[in-house]
Amino acid sequence: MPLTHVHTPINLGPIALKNRVVRTAHATNLGAGTMNDALIGYHLARAEGGVGLSIIEILSVHPSTPATLNVFIPDIGDAYRKLVAAVRPHGMKLFQQLWHGGHNALPLDGSPPWSASDVPSPTTGVTPVPMTQAMIDEIVAAYADTARKCEEWGLDGVEIHCAHGYLPAQFLSPNANRRSDGYGGSFENRLRFLREVVAAVRQAVSVNFAVGVRVAPDQSAGGIGVEDVQRAVQALEDEHLIDFVDVSLGDYHAFPKLIGGMHEPMGYEMPTSAPIARAARTPAIVTGRFRTLEEADQIIRLGDADLVALTRAHIADPQLVNKTLAGHPEQVRPCIACNQGCVGGLLGPAARMGCTVNPAIGAENSLDDTRLTPVATPRRVLVVGGGPAGMEAARVAALRGHTVTLAEAADDLGGTLRIAARAPQRHGIADIAVWLEQEIYRLGVDVRLSSYLSADDIRSLAPDAVILATGSLPRMDGIQLSHPGEPIAGIERPHVLSSWDLLLERPPRPVKSAVVIDDVGHYEGIAAAEHLLAQGAEVHFVTRHAAFAHQMEAALSAEPALQRFARGRFTLHLRTRALAIGQNDVELLPAYLPAGGPGAFRVPAERVVFISHNAPNRELASELATSGIPLQIIGDANAPRFLPVAIREGRLAGMAV
Ligand code: ADP
Repeated sequence: MPLTHVHTPINLGPIALKNRVVRTAHATNLGAGTMNDALIGYHLARAEGGVGLSIIEILSVHPSTPATLNVFIPDIGDAYRKLVAAVRPHGMKLFQQLWHGGHNALPLDGSPPWSASDVPSPTTGVTPVPMTQAMIDEIVAAYADTARKCEEWGLDGVEIHCAHGYLPAQFLSPNANRRSDGYGGSFENRLRFLREVVAAVRQAVSVNFAVGVRVAPDQSAGGIGVEDVQRAVQALEDEHLIDFVDVSLGDYHAFPKLIGGMHEPMGYEMPTSAPIARAARTPAIVTGRFRTLEEADQIIRLGDADLVALTRAHIADPQLVNKTLAGHPEQVRPCIACNQGCVGGLLGPAARMGCTVNPAIGAENSLDDTRLTPVATPRRVLVVGGGPAGMEAARVAALRGHTVTLAEAADDLGGTLRIAARAPQRHGIADIAVWLEQEIYRLGVDVRLSSYLSADDIRSLAPDAVILATGSLPRMDGIQLSHPGEPIAGIERPHVLSSWDLLLERPPRPVKSAVVIDDVGHYEGIAAAEHLLAQGAEVHFVTRHAAFAHQMEAALSAEPALQRFARGRFTLHLRTRALAIGQNDVELLPAYLPAGGPGAFRVPAERVVFISHNAPNRELASELATSGIPLQIIGDANAPRFLPVAIREGRLAGMAV
């Protein structure tokens, strides 16, 4: 199908875009508070890739609301000028999102947050100061000053963030705005703050600069609904204050809706976004798990929006537009919406965005596919193991010109991804395995399936270099790390399975009751429970941790899973451990109590799934240590961790060989 709509120009006020492909603002924190070379490289790679418009992540307008970018950082303007100079030759327009988080941010001086009223945010939990007229005037002026600076720095426009529960949305929402002055009560009053901000911004910039708003219904009872958003947009349009509207969904009361995971369908925001976009008289941008230009084209063709954001899709592959227009959409590295690298990275310990499938984020200049250095002398590289780590290593080594052989013991590629994709709602994770497989065949890798290699096999193949990506195996020793000296009694019983056994079983054996013992807190526990619930079992989920699937919380995947599980018979036992597995039940005990005392109880279990930290498959490494063949060991074989690390180590090994 020809791309009749998405690849056509459009004007947002005075700014002409070459196409309808947008990257909406998303926090990266690559600059840790300011614009820097890592963030410039990140945006430049996407400009080179053919994007029409990028909206840069939140720029705080005032020290009462520190952000991942802050207008009050000295010299930030020079870095912005560098960004503009780098991006401009590629024709991608740059807008800046202007931000005040209100009660969702903690001021730099340690004082309480600023908001419409004294309603605490669900994130900071700190009671804010209701803003006085002087504070309102100061913030309105700060938005205007920041917009003026953005124009001076050479950007093409600004977007005022009035979505996701930030300050303008706090004024708009009756849930956060309890004021009785001219800024509270009626809809017109609650809109007054946003109106003043947009009007001040409009006045501060020239007619050559675009001004728009980001809006979102928040889905909370008593909050901002679709009609409120439509009215707000209409009021701003009536006064000719905005050139475009950018429609999103949700706030921190429903955080997983803001960045929908793999369980959400493509375009999941459209039921609320389309009525807003259709009602808008200015061009409207929509977003929500779109991945391809074909999908974007269809949305525009239907008249549901004028522009479509492919935001996470461009985190995964900066070359999305170019590859598609060159006739090779199948070569676009797919976003799998796992949220582990992007939002998961940002909210995780590193506080920095990454990408599970694209390890080059923030290091585009050295790690992006387009920057790989071809090898002077091709070598014969043997990769052992065709999971994500091995396939990525083979892909990158082949891309650089090596002669690559990949041996996989199983009759198919994919490794643990093949198993993970069998869980309900999780089939999308296989997309990255399929892509890696297509790419390594396209690049001429000699793939040998059903080929288990021993150390002798490898010696006799005598490659110039070996990359071991042999993965890991479930550890079925019954050890829960809260009590390593007390392995679960009965762990050896035949009805105790690993999650691999469970998901690979064909046909699945329905049972009435099951216990999942999750020592890890990652997706594997979710997968096992959901699979068992889908078979109609009553599931008791046992974990020593204080939260369910806590490692998936930042990836916004734990709560949606619990919502799905509520449709079945699911009981969660937090801070609990298993003592003994019987014929038809499991004895449990709160993890903070000693065995042998009171507190133990039994739950029924025709089947038990034990999920523990896997054991690495490292034998080949020690057997080949003295072979003289240069060896790299990567992925789970190195140490069992998760998909982002496996792919990253594959990339680095393919570059190092
Ligand atoms: P990772 O996530 O690190 O890529 P996986 O467990 O997903 O690890 O994949 C490892 C792959 O290595 C599996 O598909 C497994 O069948 C394969 N494998 C393990 N040992 C050998 C071996 N000796 N020869 C060939 N393939 C192997």
